Amino acid sequence: MNDSALQSIKDRLIERQQQLLVRIEQVKKDVTGEHSADWSEQAQERQNDEVVEAIGNESRQELKRVTHALERIANGEYSQCSSCGAEINIKRLEAVPDTDLCISCASHAA
Ligand SMILES: [Zn+2]
Repeated sequence: MNDSALQSIKDRLIERQQQLLVRIEQVKKDVTGEHSADWSEQAQERQNDEVVEAIGNESRQELKRVTHALERIANGEYSQCSSCGAEINIKRLEAVPDTDLCISCASHAA
């Protein structure tokens, strides 16, 4: 794989990882934050908590994929499909940097 293409993907993944870590921290604060004494406001806040938790779960899932992709880069196996071992197309990695499947395996999985 082209080194500069790999480097720019790596930069994007690291940036994304930072964003996700900040967001997950923020979600934690929102969920564990102080609640109002008022009943109707409490109900509203519980709904907000559910939304915030859903965002938190999504972020954690994505963080896992991003971290996994960075590990794969570090191990020199980033462009190798984790399912069939084929080379993953660089265009695909640029479009979906946190994937570990080639287009054929990904479409089978979907
Ligand atoms: Zn594959």
